Parts: sequence; structure tokens; C-alpha cells
Amino acid sequence: MQRSRVIIDVGALRRNVRTLRRALDGAELWAVVKADGYGHGAAAVARAALEAGATALCVATAGEGLALRREFGAARVLVMGPTGRDELRDAREARLEIVVSGADVPVGLPIHLKLDTGMGRWGLAELPTPPVDVVGVMTHLASADCDERFTAEQVERFRSATADLPERLVRHVANSAGALRFPAARFDAARCGIALYGLSPFGEDPARDGLEPVLRWESELAQVKMLAPGQSTGYGRRFTARRPTWIGLVPVGYADGFRRDLTGTEVLVGGERRRVVGTISMDAFAVELGAELSVGTSVTLIGDGVLAEEHARISGTITYELVCGIRRSEERSDALVADD
Ligand SMILES: *Cc1c(COP(=O)(O)O)cnc(C)c1O
Repeated sequence: MQRSRVIIDVGALRRNVRTLRRALDGAELWAVVKADGYGHGAAAVARAALEAGATALCVATAGEGLALRREFGAARVLVMGPTGRDELRDAREARLEIVVSGADVPVGLPIHLKLDTGMGRWGLAELPTPPVDVVGVMTHLASADCDERFTAEQVERFRSATADLPERLVRHVANSAGALRFPAARFDAARCGIALYGLSPFGEDPARDGLEPVLRWESELAQVKMLAPGQSTGYGRRFTARRPTWIGLVPVGYADGFRRDLTGTEVLVGGERRRVVGTISMDAFAVELGAELSVGTSVTLIGDGVLAEEHARISGTITYELVCGIRRSEERSDALVADD
């Protein structure tokens, strides 16, 4: 049985790339496809992003970079997280570019020096005179989604620290939030992740920034039953019917990435919004129905106006974490790529 399907709309992804490129006004767009393309599938996302004009791919680990190199022989690939000494040889052979945040600067591959301007995570306190292999300088914004003043301070620190460096070094600062709302953070290139996927870096309706959700998640009712007053559904009996209540069971649970804290969120059942009730199980959850519906009625978990942002709010998390957790493995859900 096909328990659920994830559909990736690469046409929407290409349109998001174009929207971001317009916002960037001439700066390059680098597509961030770490964590398997934020759960969307790195290869499909990378291909569509490059086709639509992204000029580099960014990942967190050397392993992710090597996997991309096998599919994309010519693309510029930047590893943003730390690369271990044991990974350098493979990274060199695969022509990966790496980010260096410490005193030890490897040789023989293109390096981006990372300055810590306020993220307080990876990054150098001061930039050294760049060794020959350095091709770029960068920093990462801590709160471009929510704190304009601090973002402006970070941009200014980066600007003054890099003012005297050679022109040839590519300067990159902005993430999605920076690219969309901070013209001063654009520099030569922006590293955009979440917005590529049509998800709002601000936790708002992505349409406000002209973005279209790329991931659609659908399933169907696998069982429909009537709860008599006093009967409950699910572990811990957290939902008990007060009056005769139709419920539908959807064969998707927290093992698929439909998190246990999503109780109370809404999904579409046969095109109507319905509330998720009771405790979400590992492989199933329940929805309250207004009437008896047939088994096989469509259920849209994300899509057709049901936004990942709504679910994230109910879960007390961000869309990043929610979509990274969606399992696209064969036996859990079938991932399909829709063309435009
Ligand atoms: C993940 C990441 C990004 C992308 O951030 P979004 O908010 O998804 O656009 C950019 N830069 C670095 C260093 C990152 O780790």
C-alpha cells in the first residue's frame, strides 16, 4: 500500500530561484541543498536550481559535496561546515571548495575564509592575510529574519573587515532572509536555502515574498469509523468523543516525519480542512470528520494552501526542521518529481 506520497514541484523551485535572483539584483544566487535539499531531495533540487540560474551548490559536509559531484561534474560546490583532515584528499580530487573557520588553512583546494561577525558559531575572530588558495570571504547572519539592527551591525563588521582585501575574492553574506529583505547584505553572492523551497524564512505566508511551496505531501483515509460518546482514539486517550463523531485514520505518523506535536493542526480531507485529533502514533494519525467519508478519500498534509508554516507553528518549531524530518524512503513514502 502506498502510505503517502511526497511530490516535488521543480517548476515552483525554478520560479523561486528566479524570484530570488530578481531580489538579488545582480548578485549571484548559490543554492543551499544540505540535508538532502532540506528533505526535498538534493539532486532534483540542485538540477532545477542550476537550470534556473543558480551558480553554485552549497552543502554542510564533504560527504554531501562528493555525492553532488558524482551527479554534477562541472558545478561549483561549496562545503560550508568543517572538513576533516581525513576528507581533504577526496575534497581536492572532487574539486570541492571548502570553508575554513580556524587557523589551519589547507592547501591545494579553493578556500573560503569565514569571519564570525556575530553568529558566535563557526568563524574566525579576525581575517588573516589571505593565503593564495583563498577565493572567497564570507560570514553568516544570526538574525536576518527577526533583528534588523543586529543584521546591519554584522554587515558593517564584514564590510570593514574585508574592505582592504583584493577585489578578486568573492564576498558572500546573505542567507534567504538577508537576500529577500537586506539589500546591504547582497555583496557578490547569496547562499539561499529555505526560500528556494518556497518556505518563508520569516515563518509567514511565503506568498508575501512571492515564493511558492515546492513540497507537497499527500495520503488518503485508510479507515473511517464512528466514535460513540465516551470513546477515544489513540494512545493516552487524549481525544474522547462527546457526541457521535466520525474520525478518519491516515497511515502516516511520526516515523514518517508527521511529528508527535502536530496534534491540533489541520490537513485537507477531500478538499476540506480537518483537525488532527488525539496522539499521533508512529505510523498513523486521526482526523475529525464532519460526516462519514469513504476509505480512499484524499488527504493533503502539505499543499493546496496547507502550509508547512502552519504545522511548524503548531509544533513550536521552524519549517526547516519540519521538512528535514519528512521521510521520503521507499517504504514510507514515494517521492515523485513533477515537471512544469
Ligand atoms: C544553511 C545555511 C544557509 C542557508 O540559510 P537559509 O536560511 O536556509 O537561506 C546559508 N549559509 C550558511 C552558512 C548555512 O549554514
